[in-house]
Amino acid sequence: MKTPCNLEAFMKGLKSRNPIQTEFHDAVQEVASDVIPYLEENARDWQEGCLLERLTEPDRVISFRVSWKDDKGNVRVNRAWRVQFCNAIGPYKGGMRFHPTVSESVLKFLGFEQIFKNSLTGLPMGGAKGGSNFNPKGKSDDEVMRFCQSLMTELHRYIGPDTDIPAGDIGVGAREIGYLFGQYRRLSNTFTGAITGKGLSFGGSVGRTEATGYGAVYFMREMLATKGETLEGKTALVSGSGNVAIYCVEKLIALGAKPVTLSDSGGFIHDPEGFNAEKLAFIKDLKEVRRGRISEYTEKFGGEYHEGKRPWAIKADIAFPCATQNEVDEEDAKTLIKNGLTALAEGANMPCRLDAQHVFRKNILYAPGKASNAGGVAVSGLEQSQNSLRISWSLKEVDERLQNVMKSIHETCSQYGKTENGTIDYVKGANVGGFVKVAGALTQCGIV
Ligand code: GLU
Repeated sequence: MKTPCNLEAFMKGLKSRNPIQTEFHDAVQEVASDVIPYLEENARDWQEGCLLERLTEPDRVISFRVSWKDDKGNVRVNRAWRVQFCNAIGPYKGGMRFHPTVSESVLKFLGFEQIFKNSLTGLPMGGAKGGSNFNPKGKSDDEVMRFCQSLMTELHRYIGPDTDIPAGDIGVGAREIGYLFGQYRRLSNTFTGAITGKGLSFGGSVGRTEATGYGAVYFMREMLATKGETLEGKTALVSGSGNVAIYCVEKLIALGAKPVTLSDSGGFIHDPEGFNAEKLAFIKDLKEVRRGRISEYTEKFGGEYHEGKRPWAIKADIAFPCATQNEVDEEDAKTLIKNGLTALAEGANMPCRLDAQHVFRKNILYAPGKASNAGGVAVSGLEQSQNSLRISWSLKEVDERLQNVMKSIHETCSQYGKTENGTIDYVKGANVGGFVKVAGALTQCGIV
């Protein structure tokens, strides 16, 4: 049976099999609209059937209850999942997200994206994602610990260093990873690299915290180089204020660009002078240690705070949406381009809605998250290698490998995304480039 089919018919079938899961529909639509034409053009190489049908059905979805006690002694119940999407090229790999918006649809969308992202890194990692609708905001450390321990009491039977290796994502940082790993270690009575993003004293890799943000900037550098340009002097919009946004700003400053915005769920700050090392140190303490609101920044350093808004109306050369999915819509995209934006690299997963993507793809250098935010999972892969070898690489070694991975992802996108007029469609390049490796493995391993 031949795979090539019609996009509309394919999406109709997918939607009827997965009703209400709109985030998952959007993620598949984006990939399928590039992959189906590719399969049609290269039908001779892809005789083995139903590749896309197989890739859009997760290997398994594990859903479970997490009961825990809050500080007042009340029993609380949350729902958690692990979506093990595809292990054709390596053990399942992907983060855990704790946020009230987490649902099976969101995790299927993220797990699906992860297949292609992980493939693009060139490292042997399959695609997965997990998380819970638990909200860590406002919870005490003890409550977070009890929640993480309860979650891992169930999850531990499904993961392992050669099976599935979770990591962090939104709401899951160093604190949560520590608690999750501690409980995994206790239950399995092993000390292995079954989770990445660990603290440096218990098997973590230097450079992991910085990797996603740094990687996005390295990818932007490669895109600009295709036009003979550099980051020097470029005004940059960054959204979010988690580790992706913070280390994106850090690398932008280091490479001579001028980042001027950051945001959180309350609004965004705009510092027209640009952030510098001193301002960034304050932001790191505010967000990573004190867990405060970004609005506090303007009380100390001036600039403006725009409550309830996102930074996309500010004039800039380049942009890095690093907060969450669907934070840039079509109107935002048009405004950004009208104001002179020439390039955008996604630090978050699918922060640009499909309608915004269409505008960007036609007009500017536009990198989808599965290419430009792959630095985080790439360094997670390097953490796994170091754990298996029982050695630790230096920051210089890790950073060099990260730069090479981002360069090679850019090359893959250029190879598969070249358009007739010589420009690069990075979305197509990432989708097809990520797909080809996984599809090759699926084909060669038979129908499983
Ligand atoms: N959550 C991150 C991502 O979206 C990192 C996953 C990992 O390190 O496994 O890629």
